[in-house]
Amino acid sequence: MSYKHAYILIKDAFQKGLKPDPKMDLYEYSNTYRYLDSIGSVEYGKYDMDRISCLIPVAELLSPNSKVQEIYLCKGVQIGSTELANNALMMYAHLYGRPVMGMLPTKDLTTRHAKKKFWSGINASPALRDFFYPVKNGIANVSSTLSIKSSGGEIDWLWSESKSNYASGTYMFIVASDIDRYPDDVEGEGDPIGLLLKRLTTAGRKKKFFAESSPTKKGKSKIYAEVLNGQQHRLYMHCPHCDDMICFTKDGFVYEYDKEYYKLTSDVKYGCKNCGGLVEDWQKHEMAQPNKGAKLMPTNPTFDNDLRATIFMPSYYSPFVTWNELFIEYLTALYDVEKKGKHLKMKVWTNTIDASEYDDGSGEKEIDMSVQELLDKREEYIKIPDDIVMLSAGVDTQNNRFEVTLLGWKNNREKYVIGHYVVGGDPKFKETQEVLDTLLFEQTFEREDGQHMKIVCSAIDTGGGRTDIIYEYCRSRKNKPLYAIKGGKDIERELVKESSVVKTKSNRNVELYVLGVNSGKDDVISDVIDLDSRYLHFPHNVKKYAKGSVKVEKNEVALDMSDEQYFTQLIVESINENGRWVNKQQLPNEAVDCLVYANAAYKIYRNVLKRNKIMILDLDSLAERGKKLGMVGGEKPLKRRRRMINKGI
Ligand SMILES: [Zn+2]
Repeated sequence: MSYKHAYILIKDAFQKGLKPDPKMDLYEYSNTYRYLDSIGSVEYGKYDMDRISCLIPVAELLSPNSKVQEIYLCKGVQIGSTELANNALMMYAHLYGRPVMGMLPTKDLTTRHAKKKFWSGINASPALRDFFYPVKNGIANVSSTLSIKSSGGEIDWLWSESKSNYASGTYMFIVASDIDRYPDDVEGEGDPIGLLLKRLTTAGRKKKFFAESSPTKKGKSKIYAEVLNGQQHRLYMHCPHCDDMICFTKDGFVYEYDKEYYKLTSDVKYGCKNCGGLVEDWQKHEMAQPNKGAKLMPTNPTFDNDLRATIFMPSYYSPFVTWNELFIEYLTALYDVEKKGKHLKMKVWTNTIDASEYDDGSGEKEIDMSVQELLDKREEYIKIPDDIVMLSAGVDTQNNRFEVTLLGWKNNREKYVIGHYVVGGDPKFKETQEVLDTLLFEQTFEREDGQHMKIVCSAIDTGGGRTDIIYEYCRSRKNKPLYAIKGGKDIERELVKESSVVKTKSNRNVELYVLGVNSGKDDVISDVIDLDSRYLHFPHNVKKYAKGSVKVEKNEVALDMSDEQYFTQLIVESINENGRWVNKQQLPNEAVDCLVYANAAYKIYRNVLKRNKIMILDLDSLAERGKKLGMVGGEKPLKRRRRMINKGI
């Protein structure tokens, strides 16, 4: 039956008040009606579910003739479940004339999804384009992209953060996407999943709920908990060698890699646990086809509730990404775990590819290291070591002082703490600011070869009690490579992302960078506690008062200038069960913050140059070519050349 034919029949059925053929399932619907727009999708043109064979059994569960009412999909990225959910929403509104709802975590995501994926999908599909139209908002009289009507059903797009979105309307079908990013408690009203289930029609058997997400929060993942509370289906397929039923799990993949650099040195294949035969990447597509015997099978068959289906679907089944690509990423993460003791990348990989929770074996974890071990790590350098190519500074703002860590970069990886400076005095005073100016913009630091360097870039904290003062400080120095920063709360946010514009009290613009401080601390603290690799070097007598600074009178622990106090600050925090760094006893920790900010300063500097289309050599290549940034007098080419020659190779 051509889609046009089917469309006419169904339209006729509606007009006659008849119910459409309940035998039309989601698979058939999708392949009949759906077209993909080039804006919203990697692939476009006619939608073909046979391309994404692993989703066909999920589509079956979502179809009206399946008796399952709740479907929970714990998935890896690139599985295609977003488009599947879109298809289901369109189908229930289009063929069955039912009110349906789609939910995403935030308003921003919802608006973007509705516009870029959903509406563009409707507009690309001829039969749907004529059928759906945006609902006019009666008061504002503007066309809303989030409320979609048809002669039969209605599709609402809502977001998870606002309790009013759970308050009204009943739906026959609800899609809850990316549920791990929903709030745990919706503005005091309780668990969002529970609230959504209450919004399903009381009509009984015909209701459906589809929740999908990758797991993110260890121990608190909503999707993981929901899927464990069920039969935990996985997609099983016939092994092309022995015909046994197998499913793809991480441990079954076979490959070789370079043990030093963690580079993949062979193609990734899947080893059948029954016969030992190897399955190649190109075979996965055909194996996963239902007509080749692939099907969802319970791994927890004792669970007894056939109205509820729970499914794990890792990215290994994805037609959009190869096993080689997935395991190149895995090896990068493994390198971090095994060589550096860092777990962040592996956690992200495990969550978003393997679709499972990541356990780094920690729970709440204190830093297992004594101050003495760090004191023993100190090295003898008073001047800046010869092979430092650049200096960056991280400034922490307190009500009675600034603290500044000066970091010397040998290359992208290896750094030297040159000093940790205290600039005494309230940041609101001009005198205090002038001392900071001198340190950041004028002071030169002598290198072992007698040359002088200046700080190339600095990042300054605007959080705490002096926010407006620091905004103003940065604004009036906006031609300097000085960046206003603020610590962000998101655990997984990378250290430096894009900036935003904030207003000072006098209504002037300041560019502000919200840092992913938690991942910044992951990096810094793992370098601090790594006694072997020496990615981060420390000198003796690291703390000092900045030139011209007034000594802070108050006898605070924070202002103990001993090395012992400095190193104590570096290991004062512990990591909690969610992977967040916490300072439980609220002890001084400016030393850690300053290191994070000094790292951020260089990253921002690089981004800013890139944005302004100024070429900058990477520190590694600078190091290789013996070039330095921030050399005093380095502008004179002759002198520089002579120095290069003098360096004498
Ligand atoms: Zn086999």
